[in-house]
Amino acid sequence: MAKIRILPDALASQVAAGEVVERPAALVRELVENSLDAGARHIEVHAQRGGIAMIRIVDDGSGMDREDAMLCLERHATSKIRTKEDLGAIHTFGFRGEALPSIASVSRFRLATRERSALVGTEIEVNGGKLVAVRDHGGASGTVIEARSLFFNVPARRKFLRTENTEFSHVEQQLRLHAIANPQTAFTLTHNGELVLHLPATRDMLERIRGLVGDELASRLLKVEEATWHGITVSGYIGGPGMSRSNRQMQTTYLNGRPIESASISYGLREGYHTALMKGQHPVTFLFIQMDPHAFDVNVHPAKKEVRFHDGHSVRDAISRCVSNTLENAAKLPSGHAPARAMPAASAPRTPVVPDSRQEQFALPVAPSTAPLRDITVPSPLPAPAPAASAVSHRVADVLQRIAAARRDTAAQPPPQPPAEQDAPPATAPDEEEENEEAPAPAKAAPAEPPAPPEYRIIGVLQKLYVLMESKEGLVMMDQHAAHERVNFEKFRRAIETGGVPCQRLLIPITLQTTPRDADLLKQNLAALNRLGIEIEPFGPNIFKVETLPAFLKTDDPAAWLDQVIEELSSLSSKSSSLRLSEDAIATIACRASVKSNDVLSIPELQALLKDLFACEMPYCCPHGRPTLVQISTNELERKFGRRAPG
Ligand code: ADP
Ligand code: MG
Repeated sequence: MAKIRILPDALASQVAAGEVVERPAALVRELVENSLDAGARHIEVHAQRGGIAMIRIVDDGSGMDREDAMLCLERHATSKIRTKEDLGAIHTFGFRGEALPSIASVSRFRLATRERSALVGTEIEVNGGKLVAVRDHGGASGTVIEARSLFFNVPARRKFLRTENTEFSHVEQQLRLHAIANPQTAFTLTHNGELVLHLPATRDMLERIRGLVGDELASRLLKVEEATWHGITVSGYIGGPGMSRSNRQMQTTYLNGRPIESASISYGLREGYHTALMKGQHPVTFLFIQMDPHAFDVNVHPAKKEVRFHDGHSVRDAISRCVSNTLENAAKLPSGHAPARAMPAASAPRTPVVPDSRQEQFALPVAPSTAPLRDITVPSPLPAPAPAASAVSHRVADVLQRIAAARRDTAAQPPPQPPAEQDAPPATAPDEEEENEEAPAPAKAAPAEPPAPPEYRIIGVLQKLYVLMESKEGLVMMDQHAAHERVNFEKFRRAIETGGVPCQRLLIPITLQTTPRDADLLKQNLAALNRLGIEIEPFGPNIFKVETLPAFLKTDDPAAWLDQVIEELSSLSSKSSSLRLSEDAIATIACRASVKSNDVLSIPELQALLKDLFACEMPYCCPHGRPTLVQISTNELERKFGRRAPG
């Protein structure tokens, strides 16, 4: 006997519903999208018991006439596309004609709608997919859709719902996503009769964001000036360096107004933030991307959350440029909320770090080396002092404020949820996480007169790594390795941008035997390595001769040092674009050249390090994005010791 059967319509709808409406937040997504498509200016969302007991959406959009109101409950009934060609260029949120019949098949459903010009509207009731009643409706124009007892007739699906609180937090997150992209529409959200969000309509995007995230966070956002690359226009707001989250809830990106997730975009963000983002953390973004609807496909995800770009590389590149430009510009301007100290005259020379020895400029005096190094040569003059106009000024208070803010951002995270509940807010392709690891830094603003280091009293060094210091605000800890990495990284980059890194000639040139793959890599990067103070040239098949090393380098075994650098570069090259490799190389070499956790530094050396660190453009994180400084305020200490009431 044949085993294949055509499913009855109602059952088919329930099956389809599982894909479209997996939880109350999905109802909100579909229904709010419909309201927006209908041109609504006010949208109310009312939820009861997490949205499981009830979701009601009230809009003042176009409404429907009776015929449409009946038709919209049929599967594949849509007013939004007609032909195959329409599918190639979708301008509305909806297009599948699937949401309403799906929702109606798994809930006790009520639709009441009236067109503005119509005297009387239509009310329709459907119970688990079965039409129960159609009657006249005399309410306001627009549409009300109510879904009660979600999955009452599909217990298997109901089992997958989480607690009411969790479901409601997804509902709220979903509504936030819509609210950010549609500031000109007013939104209201209630839960169990209590007002949760009330967002008046506004023309100002930042005003809307402020309404959602609060003054404090909104005031620290950077504006992304609208710019177009490869036909992709990007604008919006992003968090500055040090502002990050441990999950992606605040990494919001929109494509032609639709909230989406995409690996290409996440990559681009990572690349753009470079070292301004701590490893494993996620940026805060409200980014809007506009592009030709023919250049991507939205019809790849049942919930339309993901899109497929025809040219993902261009998207990634456009995002990365926007983010790095925004960060760079922000670094160039004296920051608005923390006015810089008076700047010295533009011609004032930069205070040399070690006034009597140019070559030592990259070095912290560490233990004397017995390396076979000879005379020191400087291939090209060191940079002239940078004009103060392009200056970055980091007032100590500003820096500490940002550190504190970054800590708050992180601390304010809700505790990690069990894995089962992490699906709804942004989840991403796992392969993407790996590549973000070693992202190098962009900000290229030349520093001016470095600010005086803060008045820290050095108390001592913990575990030969953490420098403990007393500040006016409390206890400050510095990771000496991370701090020195940042200092070296910026000095290196500056030198490279303006000529090259001072080098020292080796007594006996080193010959290096490499694999063919590494040989190719080295050949492609000879110029970059030269600029880094490593004079290296081919010396036979897969053999290279090295004549000089960076001047600051103190090592007993230059050959081993080179091996390590090449190994790291080759592992980087498989992950990074060639574009990034030279900056990765800087980060690698800066790291390799930095004091380690076991190097014992004297107090004057630590003071010099601190001074150098605060002369950096981004003093508060190392080139890998880890913090260099951590502060525990006196208040916090007092709380810990019970001298002050918590809270
Ligand atoms: P889609 O949005 O993919 O077209 P839906 O099932 O979500 O499919 O909606 C079907 C149709 O019902 C829409 O195309 C639209 O014409 C109409 N509709 C749905 N919701 C509303 C609303 N709030 N106001 C006016 N028309 C609506
Ligand atoms: Mg729809």
